[in-house]
Amino acid sequence: MQNMLRFLCFMIATAIAGSAWANIVADMRLIGDAERTRFVVDMEASPEYVISRLSDPDRLIIDLPDAEFDGPPEPGEGRGLVSDYRYGLIAPGKARIVLDLGAPVEVVNTFVLDPVSPEPARLVIDLAPTSTEQFEAAVSRDRPQRPRVAPRPGPPLAETGLPLVVLDPGHGGIDSGAVGKGGLREKEVTLDFALELAKELRAGGKLEPLLTREDDTFLSLSDRVDVARENQAALFVSIHADTVRQDYVRGATVYTLSDDASDELAAALAERENRSDILAGLAIEDQPDDVADILVDLARRETRNLSVRFAKSLVGDMEDSFTLNSNPWRRAAFKVLKAPEVPSVLLELGYLSNEEDEAMFRSEEWPEAQAKAIARAVEAFLAGQLTAGKRVR
Ligand SMILES: [Zn+2]
Repeated sequence: MQNMLRFLCFMIATAIAGSAWANIVADMRLIGDAERTRFVVDMEASPEYVISRLSDPDRLIIDLPDAEFDGPPEPGEGRGLVSDYRYGLIAPGKARIVLDLGAPVEVVNTFVLDPVSPEPARLVIDLAPTSTEQFEAAVSRDRPQRPRVAPRPGPPLAETGLPLVVLDPGHGGIDSGAVGKGGLREKEVTLDFALELAKELRAGGKLEPLLTREDDTFLSLSDRVDVARENQAALFVSIHADTVRQDYVRGATVYTLSDDASDELAAALAERENRSDILAGLAIEDQPDDVADILVDLARRETRNLSVRFAKSLVGDMEDSFTLNSNPWRRAAFKVLKAPEVPSVLLELGYLSNEEDEAMFRSEEWPEAQAKAIARAVEAFLAGQLTAGKRVR
């Protein structure tokens, strides 16, 4: 009955908004064992779907091009040949489920059962063990037809003539990021904060903020870098709130790019951040390599110096309104900081693994005061760049 009501409301809303209809994923589950594992997806209507495989690590990707999920995604528990799974949107109305495989699998059967009231439509995928060679061969076959994350239409260059600052709320969609003990998700903390910071920067009137995402959808790390590069951003700030094993660690930290990490904590964090694309079901080869070129190298060196200068001044300006980490400027090899010509920092607002930090993220007043402090630091840095005669955009 509830489903029926929701369906009716949805149809009315759709008629009013004139937007495309999206099939709703109501439930999913694993059945069976390591000999034969069945994955079942319950949906409102019979779905379109594309199944593909990826190796290193071995994953099975299920793309549902006209679907959305019912409620916030929770990671699924593994069973049989599947060690765990997750799901989320990779673009509005485009759902993806990623199964992490405990062993190479063969898709032995797939079928769709049409909905028969009160039963929902079902997508059924049967898996059986196979050899690594067979699995790799399937990965190669899948490559051409695997839908890639569609590049988002790039927002236009700032028409105001003001320097453009790209704010990058970490994670999103299928990649929830870190999860606090109390259940708060990093992708929500980062988006809330980025929206607040954008508001603050816009109100300041000295520069123009641009967000890499404004809703709960996934972007690859290179897509995020591309937004900064294509818009010739004067500055790129990636926003995060991760977890570390040491749950006493708290406070904000500013990271800059370095091939050699400043410490173990920074190295571990960068490694986890760099896994975002793998979690979302992207192949490693989807990501372009760094360009080796002398001019790019020179630009990169100057950019790194500017990034460090900004990181240091940011740490100084944050002291009054932030609880800072005991070592607030650290360095590591974050993929998202690799734009050769855009000064970039990664800001960890705090740690979801720390109870005090999580409570802080949940409080109503924290984003505003802290967004103000960062906005002023960003403005001061870019004003300094302008007087130094540097190209800021
Ligand atoms: Zn993160």
